[in-house]
Amino acid sequence: MPTGVEQGGPLWQARRNRAVALQTARPHAADLLDSYLGVLDCQEPVYKTSRDARWPDLRNPESNTPPRLSLERLPYESLAQPFSEFVHEVQKVMPEALTQAATALDTGNLTVNAEVLQKTALQQPFSASIQSLQIEVTALQFFGRAFLEPIVEAIAHHQDRPLHQAGGTVCPLCNWPPQFATLQDETEIQGRRSLVCALCSVAWSFPRTVCIKCGEANAENLHYHVADSLPYMRVEACNSCHTYIKVADLRAEGLLAPVVDELASVELDLWCKEQGLTKFQTNLLGM
Ligand SMILES: [Zn+2]
Ligand SMILES: [Zn+2]
Repeated sequence: MPTGVEQGGPLWQARRNRAVALQTARPHAADLLDSYLGVLDCQEPVYKTSRDARWPDLRNPESNTPPRLSLERLPYESLAQPFSEFVHEVQKVMPEALTQAATALDTGNLTVNAEVLQKTALQQPFSASIQSLQIEVTALQFFGRAFLEPIVEAIAHHQDRPLHQAGGTVCPLCNWPPQFATLQDETEIQGRRSLVCALCSVAWSFPRTVCIKCGEANAENLHYHVADSLPYMRVEACNSCHTYIKVADLRAEGLLAPVVDELASVELDLWCKEQGLTKFQTNLLGM
């Protein structure tokens, strides 16, 4: 279902290949990509298990407005133990900053694990009991998101009907915000803009010159920034609400795994920060 991007096994290989290629091409992002490759190694087995698993029916009634899936119905209690094992593996490849969160999720208190997964999936704040653990929320969310991504992606790849909802600012499948946008040529439209979900990687089309955050459509208030070293990845920023999103031009050669390019183009995020811009949605690694 994601446009321009492979599904299943080839998708993981494409991400891995792209990360390795960018480690050479963009040495300043090599460490970050090293961590990401470690996370990919932990995510791919979760994807494979999830693809073959029998999930409860997550679909909302056909007549309902989007999203199509209700992540509330994921079996968080039975996911808590595999999540704990996943955290144990990911922690080996991630910086020490995450140690405290990893320890909390690796102690066998599965109630905590189930809640971290559920609240992360539903984008809700953690309960007072989790907050009282005094662990950085972003670290807990990182683990939750890293584990949920391959699960929801596998479920997304099982959808047999196309998604027709265009123009929304959240994913029509899972209700998460978009991570980045893409540009592609299609038969009817040159340079169609799509948004790509931050959780399940599903893509849906969105008007090319409208701010995702505030709906600003006046071209004078929408700005683009391109770095010479990254002609295929640009920033689109809005002067009205000071929000930005990155846009990957899939017409550029070799861009089969733009999620990796989004992570590796960290200098664009730093530039935006200097300009006082806020990202619409931070990526898996917190940028
Ligand atoms: Zn989604
Ligand atoms: Zn705006």
